[in-house]
Parts: sequence; structure tokens; C-alpha cells
Amino acid sequence: DYKYGGYHSTHKNEKFGKFNQYILIKKLGWGQYSTVWLVLNKFSNEYQALKIIKSEKIYSFSALDEINTFKKLDSQNDHIVNLIDSFWHNGPNGKHCCLIFELLGENLLNFLQKYPKKTEFNGLPLLLIKSITFQLLNSLNYLHKRELIHTDLKLENILLKIDQNQFNNDLDYENDEIFKNLNHDNDFGFYIHKSKPLSSFKSDKNPTRSSISSFGSINYYTHESEGQIVAAERQQSFSVSTSETETDSDYDSDDDDDDLKDHDDSDEDDLGNNSSIHYNNDTKEYNNEIEMNQSNGLIPNISFKIADLGNACPVNQHYSNEIQTRQYRSPEVILGNSYGASTDIWSLGCIIYELITGDYLFNPSNSLQLNKDQDHLLKILDLIEINKDDLNYLKTSQKFNQLFDNNSILNSKLIVKESQMNQILLERGLSSIDSLQISNLLNAMLKINPKDRMDSFNLLDAEWLANFNQNVEAKGVWGNKSQMKGWFEECK
Ligand code: ADP
Ligand code: MG
Repeated sequence: DYKYGGYHSTHKNEKFGKFNQYILIKKLGWGQYSTVWLVLNKFSNEYQALKIIKSEKIYSFSALDEINTFKKLDSQNDHIVNLIDSFWHNGPNGKHCCLIFELLGENLLNFLQKYPKKTEFNGLPLLLIKSITFQLLNSLNYLHKRELIHTDLKLENILLKIDQNQFNNDLDYENDEIFKNLNHDNDFGFYIHKSKPLSSFKSDKNPTRSSISSFGSINYYTHESEGQIVAAERQQSFSVSTSETETDSDYDSDDDDDDLKDHDDSDEDDLGNNSSIHYNNDTKEYNNEIEMNQSNGLIPNISFKIADLGNACPVNQHYSNEIQTRQYRSPEVILGNSYGASTDIWSLGCIIYELITGDYLFNPSNSLQLNKDQDHLLKILDLIEINKDDLNYLKTSQKFNQLFDNNSILNSKLIVKESQMNQILLERGLSSIDSLQISNLLNAMLKINPKDRMDSFNLLDAEWLANFNQNVEAKGVWGNKSQMKGWFEECK
């Protein structure tokens, strides 16, 4: 994609901005539309994130929409990444729209993959997921109140909040000897030795992992093999609040953003998933802390923001019918029916399940009998509750004949049935109380008819979120869907 019309080919210390005030330092991430870089703002002396959009016109137009979307948000809010500046930049691959954002940390996908000790269900600790769910519901409430639909909620578009001071230490550290021959210019979030091909690192089953240092909440580890440092990683740990009252006030807001990009399946092969080389007992202490606080009912204090409004749209002006990344796509979008803000609630349901189990809730594929859309519907119909009204709703789809006719496998699923969510969570090893409370929450989010989906205001009342949801109304959470324009269809 580094070609004319594509990503900008950049270099360290390249200057950006109307006054050349942004100095490029290193790559932070990338998406389907852009590459994102750490820059130093020479005017404010702060580190910020520069998103360089691909230069082709359609990407520039969507970037202009993204900038417009930000006009509907408070310039400094706790829910959605803050936009600071925007400008054009000319390069060998064309003219690129550039956006400057407040600097945030890792995205939730990397965070989940690198999490030191997964639960027995292979995901994050439930208490942490509870906190993330609470934050994301508040952020969605913030967005939906402003009559905006994100349309691409997924783990990659949810970013950790970070502390600038810690970040400065982090950068100083990278100039250290150990990191001299290690290179962070890969998409694995690891520092890899320049002379080591990734393949050899992967096959090395047992390098020693040792903690080398920590700054604030950032810990550094190296991986050694045959006496040579082959890789290093940095990891953010949590500060844990000490009282429930304090925790509560910490959690009255969050934010996030997202864009339309398929999870790259090849990523599942990368270092991020090779847990044998990632973590061993030296992370015990860190996990014990979380476990201890979990059993005390205390909440790990870590916050997230929604990012990537690149595909967001107003409830009365949809830009596209093909929205959402496949695994997080709602049934109405698959069916080609109308959608509204409640399509984000579906994606959030998929996200919560993924954080618990480390697996997609729905990961459809093509087969001889079924195309991806059909397989997706099959998986949905197998899992969630279907009542008579849902069957009628399915039949309103213009694509109904095309999807269901002549397909006996799919047709056999058009029956009234109960949700299997509770059962599936029990099978994953969750306790009966967690399974029940979580499946109640997920079932309210994963309704086949977008009209029936519960809104963020009411979801915040869920029993599972009981430690968090006191004083929701006092905190200015807005609701409910009866007041919401464009909940299940475009409202012109
Ligand atoms: P795209 O629209 O191309 O998907 P995103 O806005 O989702 O671009 O950004 C791509 C990736 O860049 C994110 O998944 C994240 O890892 C990183 N990123 C984006 N914004 C920031 C930010 N403000 N601070 C730190 N990293 C960021
Ligand atoms: Mg994105």
C-alpha cells in the first residue's frame, strides 16, 4: 500500500503541519485507511499521534467526514479520542489528509493478546471486562446522544489511555543500549533484534524472559536466547484503586473510536499469540495483585477511549450500507435491512464475548454449501434467541430469497428457539452466576431485530455491572432509546 494513492512513505524526523511543528518519531499503528505515528509537537512540547490518511480521493473524503464528526464532540472529552489539528501533507504518494490526536496507548486487541496471564477462559479477568464494558457503554451513550453511529466498533479501535510523563520515560528508555539493536518497526508491538528474522524467533520455544526495568506502570522485559537478547517488550501494568468509592468516580466515563478494517487473520500467527515465549512466572506478582483485588471486589483502574471515527456517521445521514468489520457486523447489515445506532450495540456484544474468551463470537467463513453471509447468519441463528417476530423480521429482508432459498441448512434454522449463550459460557468454564448475568446482558445486546436491542442507558442497569452502575443518572448518562432518533433506521 506504500504506492501512489496509498500510505505516505515517511522517515524519522520528517516535519509535518502548517508550521512544520510536528516531528515524526516512530510508528504507532496502522489501519485500512492510514498509518499512525508518534510525533513531538514542538510548540506545546507534547507527544501526539499523527494519522496520515492514504492519498486517494475516497480516503481524503472520508477523512474530511471524520473531521466533521469531531465537530459534534466536545474538544476535550473522556470518551472519544480528542482531535487536536488537521492539515494536508504532500509526499511522493500524493496529497494526504493528516489528523493530529491526543496520544493514547495500545489498542485493546494488542492488550488482550499480550495480557500476561489469561483467565482459564482464555481472556481478561472478568472484573476488568466489567470495567471496560461499563466504560464502553458510557462512551457509546456519549456518541449516540450526539446522534452519531460509530459503525466500526472492534478491539483495534479501542485504545488505552496513557500518562504523558510515563511516556516520556519510555522514549528515553528506547535510546538505551539494550534497545540499540532492537527494532520496533514491526506491527507486533515487540522490539525484535535487527539481525533476527521473525521466523527464527518464533521457532525458539524457550528464550529466557527477564524483567529489566520498570518506570511507573511500564515494565520492560527482554527475551534471551543463547546469551543474546533477541527481543524486548514493554508492558503497561495497572494501578489498582484502593477503595470502591474512589473507583466509582474513576469510572464515570470512557471513550473509543473505530474504523472499517478486517482483522488480519495472518496476525493470529504472529508473536502476539505465541504465549510460550511471552510470559512465565515472573509476572505472577502482577497478576496476583489483580486477582487479590478481584476477590476483594475492587476494580483495576485502567481506562480506555474509543478511537477511529473514520466510518462514523450521523443517524440521519448514513454514508454506506456496508458497514462494520465482518466479525462485529450486525444481522440487519448482513441482511441489507436498515440499521441505526443500535448496530453499535451488536458490535459491543461481540467485543465483550471476545474479551472473555479470546475468541470471536462469530467468525464466519466460506464453504461449499454456504457463502460468508450465509455462514454468518447460520452462526447467529444457532446462538441467539429467535421468536416469531424475529422470523417475520428475517423475511422482510430483500436478500431473504437469495440467502435462504434453496439452502436447506440455513432454512432448517428458521425456528423459534432460546438463546444458547448461558450454556456456552458455562461450557467455557464460567461460574453459574457469571454465566447467567453475562448472558442476560449479552442477550439484551444481541437481538436479531435492531429495534429490540437495549440501549446503553438501560444496559448500564445490568445486574452484572452492579458495582459500577450506581448513580448512572446523576452522572449525566442519557437515555433511553425511545428518545433516540435513528435507533434502528436512518431518520431523514
Ligand atoms: P484506520 O482508520 O486506518 O483504521 P485508526 O484511527 O484506527 O486508523 O488507527 C490505527 C491504529 O493506530 C490503531 O489501532 C492504534 O493502534 C493506532 N492509533 C490510532 N490513534 C492513536 C492515538 N491517538 N494514539 C496512539 N495510537 C493510535
Ligand atoms: Mg481503525
